[in-house]
Amino acid sequence: MMEQAMMKAVVLRAFGEPEVLEYADVIRPEPGPGEVLVEICCCGVCHLDLILRKGMRSRVKPPRIMGHELAGTVSAVGEGVRDFAPGDRVASFNFQACGECEDCRRGRPSLCRQTQGDIGQTRDGGYAQYACLRQGNLVKLPEGMPFEHACFGACVFAPPYKAIRHVGRIRAGQWVVITGASGGLGLAAIQIVRALGARSIAITGSQGKVDALRAAGADEVVVSPDGAFGEEVRRLTGGRGVDLVVELIGSPTFDGAMRSLAPGGRCAVIGELHGTPVNINLGLLILKEWEIKGVQSADREELVEVLGFMHEHGIVPTVWRKLPLSQAAQAHHLLGDRSVIGRILLVP
Ligand SMILES: [Zn+2]
Ligand SMILES: [Zn+2]
Repeated sequence: MMEQAMMKAVVLRAFGEPEVLEYADVIRPEPGPGEVLVEICCCGVCHLDLILRKGMRSRVKPPRIMGHELAGTVSAVGEGVRDFAPGDRVASFNFQACGECEDCRRGRPSLCRQTQGDIGQTRDGGYAQYACLRQGNLVKLPEGMPFEHACFGACVFAPPYKAIRHVGRIRAGQWVVITGASGGLGLAAIQIVRALGARSIAITGSQGKVDALRAAGADEVVVSPDGAFGEEVRRLTGGRGVDLVVELIGSPTFDGAMRSLAPGGRCAVIGELHGTPVNINLGLLILKEWEIKGVQSADREELVEVLGFMHEHGIVPTVWRKLPLSQAAQAHHLLGDRSVIGRILLVP
């Protein structure tokens, strides 16, 4: 009998503290029909991974290899795969929509309730040397785009990109407020606003992050530990307010977000850390014709668009630490600590 090929991987053995992540030798998967075996170059560590590790989402059943922010090279393809070949450079997005339900057919795959295998949740993901993924979950990278940029396309860059371009319809010279600006998505938002020639006001709760936000390209930084930044935003914009708020924190900053909006302004809600109901003055909403819209991560088409934009504008994601795969537990400890600026990357 032929010996099975092995690989290194970080396996979630049980829910709990970072130490439940075990660096181990496991059997390398083989691509089945419609599947692609990807040799992973790098995988981002996401706040969602910390939530999953703690067992706060019931869909994950250990043992599981986590990680959905991966990029790498196709090493083998299964039966019926025509769009990919060994050697192709690819990145993934997080969910696989069914393609058949009403929402999928009307072009809203992010609303699909029959997703088939979310990477790193219901199927093994990127904390490994290899991952076996559905071909529908992969897109090819633009020519010459580094893996370490592309792996952040779907989860880190796509939500602020959709907020700024699709919800905000932001043009050069317009103003954008970004709450929770020092996280991976906030720094991405600052970079996207700058690439469009627009201007950003970064909101942070901590004085210690001001320099990093300016270095990332924020035009203004407002330190507001209590979420009452609306007045300062109006002052910075000559009393008018901003055209868009990219809301990454949610209920604690929502009131400040509303107070920051100019007439006709948009508020794109990407994050909600607390789950507390918010108050909206509906009279003002009507008079000012404000728009409030929820935004999720990318589907396939959106990921292609985001990667193209990042590459075209030479956007380099802020990577706070690059760690070997064997230090995944350490990466989780670091990300759980609020001093992190930007993202952590695992490299097999
Ligand atoms: Zn993520
Ligand atoms: Zn569907």
